[in-house]
Amino acid sequence: MSIRFDPAPESAAIACLRAEVRAFLDHESEAGGFDPLNLDPETRFDRAFSAKVGARGWIGMTWPKELGGHGRSYAERYAVTEELLAGNAPIRAHFVADRQSGPMLIKYAQPHVRDELVPKIVAGELAFCIGMSEADSGSDLFAARAKAVACDGGWRLSGSKLWTTLAHRCDWMIGIFRTAPATSDNRRHGLTQFLIDMGRSGISVRPILFPSGEHDFNEVVFDDVFVPDDHVLGSPDEAWRQATSELAFERSGPERFLETYPLMPALIDVLSSSPDQRSAEGLGRMTAQLHVFRHMAMAVARGMDEGSEPVAEASVVKAAATRWEQAMVAEARRITSLIDNDGPDRERFDDVLQHMTALTPKVTIQGGTVEILHSIVARALGLR
Ligand SMILES: Cc1cc2nc3c(=O)[nH]c(=O)nc-3n(C[C@H](O)[C@H](O)[C@H](O)COP(=O)(O)OP(=O)(O)OC[C@H]3O[C@@H](n4cnc5c(N)ncnc54)[C@H](O)[C@@H]3O)c2cc1C
Repeated sequence: MSIRFDPAPESAAIACLRAEVRAFLDHESEAGGFDPLNLDPETRFDRAFSAKVGARGWIGMTWPKELGGHGRSYAERYAVTEELLAGNAPIRAHFVADRQSGPMLIKYAQPHVRDELVPKIVAGELAFCIGMSEADSGSDLFAARAKAVACDGGWRLSGSKLWTTLAHRCDWMIGIFRTAPATSDNRRHGLTQFLIDMGRSGISVRPILFPSGEHDFNEVVFDDVFVPDDHVLGSPDEAWRQATSELAFERSGPERFLETYPLMPALIDVLSSSPDQRSAEGLGRMTAQLHVFRHMAMAVARGMDEGSEPVAEASVVKAAATRWEQAMVAEARRITSLIDNDGPDRERFDDVLQHMTALTPKVTIQGGTVEILHSIVARALGLR
């Protein structure tokens, strides 16, 4: 197997779409709908804003029209997502549902469940979280111990999930639970995916604070929580097949290298219009590298439009681009350490730098660590 990134120029239609998103963001920020300089993760979860994005047709873009989606391409979705992220729009309330929970429901939910929830996701009304990781089951997802036991009309869940981003604000979780032991010939067997209403009795969400004090993560504890039969996703014991495609959705987007992006415009402001040669070279190098990652990620989106499953390509982008995100923050600090500029731009830059310095360690861990991604790529290349 080979790994391919086929470059292709962006079409005029996609350039128009980008202009449409930028005009929307300009309008919204001027009208006070959001503050593009605000980096606080809490305020970037904004249901009212998500409803506006949904009304523009920018949630569920690639999903079939007959299911309430918009039947557009992954390349178009890529362009819209990139613009929203580069504009620092508060899209966290719908982002996980748009990226991976909705596609999972479309593929694996019972038709009546799918038909009830998918249109609400498309309207930006529902927030989803991901219940995969546990205390001893992160990279090794298939070691999950939280369990589900069949009962009359459904299942009873017990155990706990860890590092569940935004569980305290979400309406639904898609979680993985053990429904049978692994078998001797398949250690991945015995896990089932459930759609879980976060309002069910027996669920408690315990905050885990970042070192900065921000509340984003949680431990979610399930104490004999009832989930009806029709909220099983796909086939019992087969979650490993399904979760693999979920991870592919999770790894392929521009959110994987634009989390620290607000530092770049702040750096450009500090350098002003006449940077010294050393600073200009540093900024130029970072810009060129970002440009390459954007083209690689767009090639992944085009591969999905052509019906391929570019899991290895998405892994290359995530592994390399998240390392770049970390290096970019270090480079910005290096460049500015010798610049004598104490104005308001410098204050803003220092604030963003501090925020991004605290944030970057996580980018190579969330959604699959670089070591795990390297091993996926090695397997795709036939090296292991
Ligand atoms: C910001 C953030 C948000 C997150 N949000 C969620 C969420 O919403 N829902 C959710 O379910 N999870 C979430 N996670 C958890 C995340 O998916 C796990 O942290 C990640 O998969 C790693 O698992 P772990 O922390 O258990 O580390 P481990 O798996 O214990 O790994 C520890 C180290 O060992 C290395 N390692 C492990 N196995 C191998 C191997 N086979 N070969 C080589 N090296 C290996 C890893 O690369 C890593 O460096 C989030 C994590 C972060 C940082």
